[in-house]
Amino acid sequence: MKKDAKTVLVTGGAGFLGSHLIDRLLGAGHEVLCVDNLFTGSKRNIEHLYGHPRLEFMRHDVTMPLYVEVDEIYNLACPASPVHYQHDPVQTTKTSVHGAINMLGLAKRVGAKILQASTSEVYGDPAVHPQPESYWGNVNPIGPRSCYDEGKRCAETLFFDYHRQHKLRTKVVRIFNTYGPRMHPNDGRVVSNFIVQALRGEDITLYGDGQQTRSFCYVDDLITAMMRMMENTPEDFPGPVNIGNPGEFTIRELAEIVIELVGSRSRLVFHPLPADDPKQRRPDIDLAKRLLDWEPKVALREGLVETIAYFRAVLLDEGPRVVLPAAPALRSGAEAAPIATATLAAVRRASGESLRRQAREMPATAKPSTTT
Ligand code: NAD
Ligand code: UDP
Repeated sequence: MKKDAKTVLVTGGAGFLGSHLIDRLLGAGHEVLCVDNLFTGSKRNIEHLYGHPRLEFMRHDVTMPLYVEVDEIYNLACPASPVHYQHDPVQTTKTSVHGAINMLGLAKRVGAKILQASTSEVYGDPAVHPQPESYWGNVNPIGPRSCYDEGKRCAETLFFDYHRQHKLRTKVVRIFNTYGPRMHPNDGRVVSNFIVQALRGEDITLYGDGQQTRSFCYVDDLITAMMRMMENTPEDFPGPVNIGNPGEFTIRELAEIVIELVGSRSRLVFHPLPADDPKQRRPDIDLAKRLLDWEPKVALREGLVETIAYFRAVLLDEGPRVVLPAAPALRSGAEAAPIATATLAAVRRASGESLRRQAREMPATAKPSTTT
């Protein structure tokens, strides 16, 4: 083990962001304990790391206490997509709130530094644009998104109270929409939905008029910022810090870019807007720039090309029922090329059986509850 290496607990480590974080932590020489109940995550997301001498996996639900010895904790355990977190809203609130209490209790007992993966959803449907950390938000406490939004807000409260009351070294980052390889093909999020629909030649489902905006951050940029928040900020600085890509796109623009990059003939169709769907979202990242010496490097088109390549391989792996248009350029400006066997193999390692099972069992594109 490296001299400055730590033992790091990642809750939700078998999920989309958690598995990328673990790759980076192991790469930096740390010991990693991955804790996950596999609700939305998959062991296959970390399968490529099996046998790694510094990785341990523990199947555990963070709503239950956990007794381990660690130096740092990244608390990511929580379903993140509207379809998943609205599936069992009571469990979602418990995961955020009881999970935070249990992980903070663990941090207090062992003196660990702890980071909370909070969310732009704490701003709700924001009346201030772009959103600075000082904005308190505009959140419906009793709607279908509240289990997630209010659960995450309460978790932030707990992190700040443990910091003030128990002098714990706590860190809160507010993550804005992040995308990339290892997202679930049918978690209902806009990037995964649009790419899967475009690859299958199905209609692209725009909710509302498609004029609502989001800012999309590529996963590699996000993980860099999250690790800098944990490692490079003063011990007594709890945040919160926004992490996201300030490039703002309407959902319709996103659909058009995906269709172009996939080379798809999919048409745009309009569905009702889900309840409490925020009209606009864009991070003010001045604080992250100053404090973390960070800003996102991967442009939307570039990140989408990588993500499309991932989903193309996952869908090809699904078998003959999937009709795919010709492969697009794998990187902007590159010649169009079919997916290499090596890429497929890598994706097989990076994706999961549970993910493919879900893809078979759930409707082609999942949809959250809508207003009527
Ligand atoms: P994900 O669903 O892929 O990962 C969440 C992981 O947590 C999964 O592996 C799941 O099995 C696990 N989990 C859920 N409930 C658990 C429980 N009770 N006990 C143990 N494990 C549990 O989602 P993600 O996109 O990787 O999100 C990771 C974290 O980042 C979440 O806390 C999410 O709220 C936050 N976040 C993500 C985004 C984004 O755009 N991806 C944006 C804002 C915040
Ligand atoms: N959205 C859409 N079509 C889809 C999936 C999502 O138009 O197939 C919209 C959704 O209504 C929202 C935006 O895309 O306005 C982002 O949705 P997502 O669930 O990805 O993230 P969040 O709303 O949590 O930011």
